[in-house]
Amino acid sequence: VPTLREVGELEAIRRLTAAWGEPAAARDTDPAGVRIGPGDDAAVLCPSPGCDLVATTDAFVENRHYLAEWFTPRELGARLAAACVSDIAAMGARPRWALHSLGVRPDHDVDALVELQRGIEVFVAGDGAVIVGGNIVAAGGLEWMSLTLLGEAGAGRAWTRSGARPGDWVAVTGWPGRAGAGLRLARSSGDEARRPGWQPLLDAWIRPQSRVSLARSLAATDAVHAAIDVSDGFAGDLMHLCKASGVGAELEAESLADPLLETAARTLGTSAEHLVFGPSDDYELVLAVDPAGREACEQVARDARIRLTFVGRFSGERAELVRRTPDGARQAFVMGGWDHFSAER
Ligand SMILES: [Mg+2]
Repeated sequence: VPTLREVGELEAIRRLTAAWGEPAAARDTDPAGVRIGPGDDAAVLCPSPGCDLVATTDAFVENRHYLAEWFTPRELGARLAAACVSDIAAMGARPRWALHSLGVRPDHDVDALVELQRGIEVFVAGDGAVIVGGNIVAAGGLEWMSLTLLGEAGAGRAWTRSGARPGDWVAVTGWPGRAGAGLRLARSSGDEARRPGWQPLLDAWIRPQSRVSLARSLAATDAVHAAIDVSDGFAGDLMHLCKASGVGAELEAESLADPLLETAARTLGTSAEHLVFGPSDDYELVLAVDPAGREACEQVARDARIRLTFVGRFSGERAELVRRTPDGARQAFVMGGWDHFSAER
């Protein structure tokens, strides 16, 4: 297997860009909105008329953001893409152009790099986006990879974190907490975690799905007042949204009961609720939904076959997160940093 050192930088770049076809021929029109693609000093892009440009970037560092032995190179590329695509989805936008940078050791297998890039390419292509450039450098220590993603939203139409109003529904897509549980099981149980029953948790962690198409259909209902994606954990990200909007939230904790997380919690020696609300990069969406638009949003989610759970309401009590138990009692959630989470009262 040839390494980066053996083939050299130029040949590595040639292999990485081979899949992109003939470079640099200036075009008047291109369905992907690319006038000049990879191969020149910079890409030249053609944003759609009447659209705002939406930009995000993310980076993974070896050992810190991924456990290499749990990911194929292609899955790793896809997961980096998923992290950026999720930010674009949380703006109600669609991704269009990606740029990625790699810092890799000279002994890195070149075919694995091509696979990694293929993972990014295929994931962003699912929402119609293309890679328009990149950069590769030699790293002495830990390897890292970074992706910048540009997208578009109708002028002035992008969702933000700051539009939630008291009385809006708090809604969340998918099964929050599963990605974090998958990661914890992989860390604590090693190969034990590969048993079939845990597969949905490992999938949530290793292979998160794009929510762009759902987000755009939800945006078309005009019912979404604010949004954020779950990259830290459901409660933590909901709190970011609450603070940005100047509101609080009252949740019915039982609405997110997840039988799989109940079982995982026993293995991990924690509570299912901690898994649901605590640290977990699920790349799901948390939404503030206008009460009048709830049914329309439910219909959109049913059509997309994606779980959308209405877990409570935003309140006027600024930055206060409260859970309501089945017997009607109100308990405050208290949270500190990313990995500190506890319930009080
Ligand atoms: Mg985000």
